[in-house]
Amino acid sequence: MTKLYLAVPCYNEEEVLRDSADKLVEKFDRMIDTKKISEKSKIVFIDDGSADNTWKIISELHDENPVFDGIKLSRNRGHQNALLCGMMTLRDKADAVISIDADLQDDIEAFDEMVEKFEGGCDVVYGVRSKRDTDTFFKRTTAGAFYKVLNKMGADVIYNHADFRLMSKRALDAFSLYKERNIFLRGMVPLVGFHSDVVTYERAERLAGESKYPLKKMLNLAWEGITSLSVKPIRIITLSGAAILLISIAMILYLLVSFFMGSAIGGWTSILISLWALGGLLLIAVGIIGEYIGKIYLEVKRRPQYIIEESLGINEQ
Ligand code: UDP
Ligand code: MG
Repeated sequence: MTKLYLAVPCYNEEEVLRDSADKLVEKFDRMIDTKKISEKSKIVFIDDGSADNTWKIISELHDENPVFDGIKLSRNRGHQNALLCGMMTLRDKADAVISIDADLQDDIEAFDEMVEKFEGGCDVVYGVRSKRDTDTFFKRTTAGAFYKVLNKMGADVIYNHADFRLMSKRALDAFSLYKERNIFLRGMVPLVGFHSDVVTYERAERLAGESKYPLKKMLNLAWEGITSLSVKPIRIITLSGAAILLISIAMILYLLVSFFMGSAIGGWTSILISLWALGGLLLIAVGIIGEYIGKIYLEVKRRPQYIIEESLGINEQ
């Protein structure tokens, strides 16, 4: 029987945590009763440096029911790092780990199918949303654009898959070999390979509280996704540089011809336009290259992605 561990990152989730915990434990009990998962399975909350009562609630839950464990990070490191911490800490203890957000927008009923597929030989099972009716119009359109841009930029992500997925111990062990600091999990997991499958579900509304992914964090994630998985932006710069070179050769010819024909006066407009256009392009180019150099800087420093301050239960067995 599969020993299943859930990794649930939580950042300021006091409003939703108890509800989610109830729902999760109820689901777990049902799965244990029907012998779908072993009774040693666990629900592990990773507190991503919350400023509210999240950690207090996690400790209470752990005291009330040993199925709940907790990991507390020393400070807020962001969803991706919190999730990575969960995946890497739990991979030694479980047969499979499912990652899911604390607000349970992803369908917990999909656990069954995920576990079935895992038992049927899949190492990675992606949860894919069939509809996004419950998301706001804004979220839907920005998210749609997000996947399109990512794919255009050469980062292969599974459409409408966020971070709700099952990974086997074997896949997690393989994933641990990816040592990079700039992480974009949903784009990196497919790189591991192995046999994978998808499970579709409908995305629900957040149980309570507000989205912890404001526009700024979303743009950040998109940017991380592109620049950590692809060098295409740099290639685009090189190509546009080449295109501009061709245009400027045509310009030089034109300028020489008009010079010899004695009509070189004026030209003020064209000079100013090219000045501004080139200036803008150069700035963008330098900025993007700088971005990659910044990433290299972060990589070579090899800083830890997260630091565990405290944990509840995890190391007991
Ligand atoms: N989260 C986190 N650290 C952060 C921001 C978010 O661990 O800095 C967690 C959050 O608690 C939730 C998940 O990441 O479990 C997804 O966040 P949210 O539901 O707010 O994002 P949305 O569904 O709106 O994209
Ligand atoms: Mg959410």
